[in-house]
Amino acid sequence: MIPYGRQDISQADIDAVVDVLKSDYLTQGPQVPLFEETVASYCGAKYGVAVNSATSALHVACLALGLGEGDWLWTSPNTFVASANCALYCGAQVDFVDINPHTYNMSVEALEHKLKQAKLSNTLPKILIPVHFAGQSCEMREIHALSLEYGFKIIEDAAHAIGGKYLGKSVGGCQYSDITVFSFHPVKIVTTGEGGIATTNQSVLAERMQLLRSHGVTREPHLMTKSLETEGAWYYQQVDLGFNYRMTEMQAALGVSQMQRVDEFVGTRKAFAKRYDELLHNLPLVLPFQHADSDSSFHLYPILIQTDLIFKTRAEVYKALREDGIGVNIHYIPVHTQPYYQKMGFAEGSFPLAEAYYQQVISIPVFHAMTLQDQNRIIELLERDLI
Ligand SMILES: *Cc1c(COP(=O)(O)O)cnc(C)c1O
Repeated sequence: MIPYGRQDISQADIDAVVDVLKSDYLTQGPQVPLFEETVASYCGAKYGVAVNSATSALHVACLALGLGEGDWLWTSPNTFVASANCALYCGAQVDFVDINPHTYNMSVEALEHKLKQAKLSNTLPKILIPVHFAGQSCEMREIHALSLEYGFKIIEDAAHAIGGKYLGKSVGGCQYSDITVFSFHPVKIVTTGEGGIATTNQSVLAERMQLLRSHGVTREPHLMTKSLETEGAWYYQQVDLGFNYRMTEMQAALGVSQMQRVDEFVGTRKAFAKRYDELLHNLPLVLPFQHADSDSSFHLYPILIQTDLIFKTRAEVYKALREDGIGVNIHYIPVHTQPYYQKMGFAEGSFPLAEAYYQQVISIPVFHAMTLQDQNRIIELLERDLI
């Protein structure tokens, strides 16, 4: 089976992890700060706070921005459930903004319309989480302008988008947001096994997230009510309720090593995407549209099956490709149609563009370790299985 995505681990990656295993620190050593510095400087952000998953990063990011009971968080329905669940962890309420049918990202027009209505009913969101679907940045300049007008905070869910660019700058620099979150799950572009990071330019937010990832416990003098000098060198204080969301040294060392190749990873993904663009354009498919402001890192290559032009359903095409050994996948089942969200009152039909998109989409394989022969086979089988 050719999977839709998979990690690429080099001997240097393996050596980096083995070195940590032979060192004094398996956790809370020098590798985590080094990884944070590596990712933050790559993205052009001042701070990076590494945690054990992007889900944890979303949670501490929401808490750092003060999300709580009575607040609203809005995100895209075309995402993994984690982008919405973080609001519920904080006791806040979730709502969604339908997608742009071309980029499959949150629609700026739909957002503006919904904000106008929410202002009238006094239900404006405290936090908005735009998701850079498939690696293509959302229209952040426009979303940021709306945040100034309506007073909400922005967390970019860039789980798909490390190495991507927006208006010529790296995603994660937070020019148009408060915090950006990346995932290092093995299916993403860069991996640490499990892992995530939150980047920001605001020292207060970085400090809050550092505190929350480790029990709310600190030894920072300015956060404590007593000092190490008066109490003793062992002293620490719990000043907030946090979690154990720490990244290990093995994960961080793998991440530092993987980050040496991030541009190479993204470069091959883009080359495969370009080749798909060229070789699939005659088939009854809608290929990924690229917004002029964005330079996608192509975590995914989603194609829409034009079922009105062929004699098969999307499910039949999916099944045929799977049986032929192509590990296609579907991104995403709209979050509001999940049973858990339906129980909260979301009805099917509420976000029609995300739902229509979901009916047609298939993600075909794109990853660094894929070969040209793999890609040729995928194209050949796709041509056959569409008929
Ligand atoms: C993978 C993913 C997450 C969650 O990442 P984890 O590191 O697995 O917690 C969040 N949002 C999006 C869009 C993702 O694809």
